[in-house]
Amino acid sequence: MAKRDFYEVLGVAKNASSDEIKKAYRQLALKYHPDKNPGDKDAEDKFKEAAEAYDVLSNPDKRANYDKFGHSAPGGFGSGGGGFNMEDIFSRFGDVFGGHFAGFGGFSGFSGGGGQRDRPRRRGSDARIKVKVDLKDIAGGVEKRLKVPLLCKCDVCGGTGAKDPSSFSACNTCKGSGYVTRITNTILGAMQSTSVCPECQGEGSKITDLCTACHGEGTVRREESIVFRLPPGVGEGMQLNIPGKGNAARRGGISGDLLVVISEEPHEELARDENDLIYSLYISLPQAALGASAEIPTVTGKAKIKIEPGTQSGKVLRLKGKGLPDINGYGTGDLLVYITVWTPQKLSKEEEKMMKTLLNSDNFKPNPSKQDKNFFEKMKNILR
Ligand SMILES: [Zn+2]
Ligand SMILES: [Zn+2]
Repeated sequence: MAKRDFYEVLGVAKNASSDEIKKAYRQLALKYHPDKNPGDKDAEDKFKEAAEAYDVLSNPDKRANYDKFGHSAPGGFGSGGGGFNMEDIFSRFGDVFGGHFAGFGGFSGFSGGGGQRDRPRRRGSDARIKVKVDLKDIAGGVEKRLKVPLLCKCDVCGGTGAKDPSSFSACNTCKGSGYVTRITNTILGAMQSTSVCPECQGEGSKITDLCTACHGEGTVRREESIVFRLPPGVGEGMQLNIPGKGNAARRGGISGDLLVVISEEPHEELARDENDLIYSLYISLPQAALGASAEIPTVTGKAKIKIEPGTQSGKVLRLKGKGLPDINGYGTGDLLVYITVWTPQKLSKEEEKMMKTLLNSDNFKPNPSKQDKNFFEKMKNILR
């Protein structure tokens, strides 16, 4: 069937304003509204035709294109050969009906056009588990394999809750449709509004014989083996969402999500400061004075560092990139080695003698401003 000219469909002039177009469409939509013409295929076609014309003419770009090329415009118009379906029309142009139907929730409850509307789908509840990770897991990411107690689809009835496929009878209240329709009188005549059947909650049927394994729930509780991968850089209290791996819905429907909450196990020697790691290294007085090498722990093993002669207590050595990866991929943190010079707390007679000799040495007299100009600045930063 050749398409009618869109201006002709709406009965407006080629130079009609957008207000005139809207008004014309509104009148047609009300005239041919399926709720006012139940079972009238011709009215339904006209209703759809008007919607398609309005879709094009109410959009300046589409309209300009249509004016230039007509129905053979590149890319075509509307939703192709099949035209709009009813739900599309109401969801896209429902506002055209505006105030007249305030209180009806628009036409959103409309059921018609001959198509079977979707039943509301149940969703299972989310399940929450805690997962322990150590620094190594955080550094490299980790695959976790866990047993999680979940509501799972009943294998005996396939999640339906019925003993066998014949154990269903249509719901008396909604006659199997899952929806009940209410007729209300308005200035435009009798209008229907539709809602989910309160008797069967939209299922349209009732179970006559319940599955004995799940007592009609369609779900059973059991331990499920779940495998998932944690990305590098996770931290204490973070929550990851694994869609569809939570509890199964009652009698079919979609499963909830599995929420994985991260619990970070402290490392014996390394502390974490966001993406940086901190290690506290004690060196002896002679090591500080003479220089030394020290072995320090990292997430992946040991690292050797060099202590320069004359190192002060409080010095921080930064090992670039030896920290933790950022969860959002912004690089990797550092490993900070905080150095403390260990002051002996007990001295032998001989050591005491040596110390007393050193006491008078100029080199042993503290002189921080000369030694390290940044020393006070650093202290300020630490204390802040
Ligand atoms: Zn069952
Ligand atoms: Zn029902």
